[in-house]
Amino acid sequence: MKNNKGVAAALPAHFVLSPIDGRLVLEEGARRVPKLDMKSMSLAEIEAALAGLGQPPFRARQVFRWLHRRAVCDFGEMTDLPADLRARLRAEADPACAAVVRRQEAPKDGTVKLLLRFGDGETVEAVLLRYRFGHTVCISTQAGCRMGCVFCASTVGGLARNLTAGEMVEEVLAANRELRLRTGDPEARVSRVVLMGIGEPLENYEAVVAFLRLIHDPAGLAMSYRHVTLSTCGLVPEIRRLAGEGLPITLAVSLHAPNDELRDRLMPVNRRYPLRELLPACAEYGERTGRRVTFEYALIEGVNDAPELARELARLLKGMLGHVNLIPLNPSGRGLGGSPPERVEAFRAALERAGIAVTVRRELGTGIDAACGQLRRRSESSGRGLPAAVAGRVQE
Ligand code: SF4
Repeated sequence: MKNNKGVAAALPAHFVLSPIDGRLVLEEGARRVPKLDMKSMSLAEIEAALAGLGQPPFRARQVFRWLHRRAVCDFGEMTDLPADLRARLRAEADPACAAVVRRQEAPKDGTVKLLLRFGDGETVEAVLLRYRFGHTVCISTQAGCRMGCVFCASTVGGLARNLTAGEMVEEVLAANRELRLRTGDPEARVSRVVLMGIGEPLENYEAVVAFLRLIHDPAGLAMSYRHVTLSTCGLVPEIRRLAGEGLPITLAVSLHAPNDELRDRLMPVNRRYPLRELLPACAEYGERTGRRVTFEYALIEGVNDAPELARELARLLKGMLGHVNLIPLNPSGRGLGGSPPERVEAFRAALERAGIAVTVRRELGTGIDAACGQLRRRSESSGRGLPAAVAGRVQE
């Protein structure tokens, strides 16, 4: 990275500007490095890379729009670019599109689960959900998960790898393509994004924050941060770090138990970050962002759904800026079942009587592999895999 420090500093790893003609080329010795991951790059980074090819700044905006807004998968289709630039990008950059290798649709509510396969063969799940206010996509942030929650199918095979920011964008774009196909509207797109699929988003911190900034960019999807929800099992240092990013997204914390003894058993992460550390971090997030934290509580029959636990939960959360989302656990094939409606109602009523704001989430995806990670798991056991998240972790 010798000939233009300003530009070179912004180039992705393993790429340099040729000292001969200023072309963007692979670094010596890095011949087996994949093509330039342009979908993970910010507008400024693309601008810097194209400047090295002698292109004016508006070209970067064109490329960014083609990738993010029009969701094309071939640089050759970027018809307002000069032919030689299109050819160059085709040869040296990767649009990072995923193949839809499987699709499941819930007959009752139209929820569509997509199994997406990336270039290296790794698969994740993205789920398209229909609500009264529009469409939401639930995306995965990792292929697999190593957090070990006992009720979750996504963690069974461990963590395969983190997703890149561009791969997460691609999940949103795959949902948009699906919507366009189904509605016939070439402009159709999801209005909300929830990071509740396979993986722990805050374990893939840098890529997730880059993804959030990418989908917010007005030259691309222009999504409001207020229409984004990130769900975490409770990584305390990263919650505090996220509070300082200036991204007013909604934080959803998977609680699932009102005390350390039970939470230790359900979620190994609690042994590292117990409730006495987690709740102050949530309070700090609420104070710094002005956003009300959502506490998710998956009701597991006979495990965490007794009314006395609801009262204990109410005491724990008293005075916090937040509310509780209840959802009966979707069976994940791990021997635990969701609470029946009468126990859900009793739990909800006990919380409400204690003055806690509470909602019961509508179950979506009945009739498909609704629990997070089931599709990926099944696909892996029969070849290559499907996606994640405690089924129904998506809030109406
Ligand atoms: S619930 Fe979330 S954090 Fe826990 S194992 Fe499943 S994907 Fe990972």
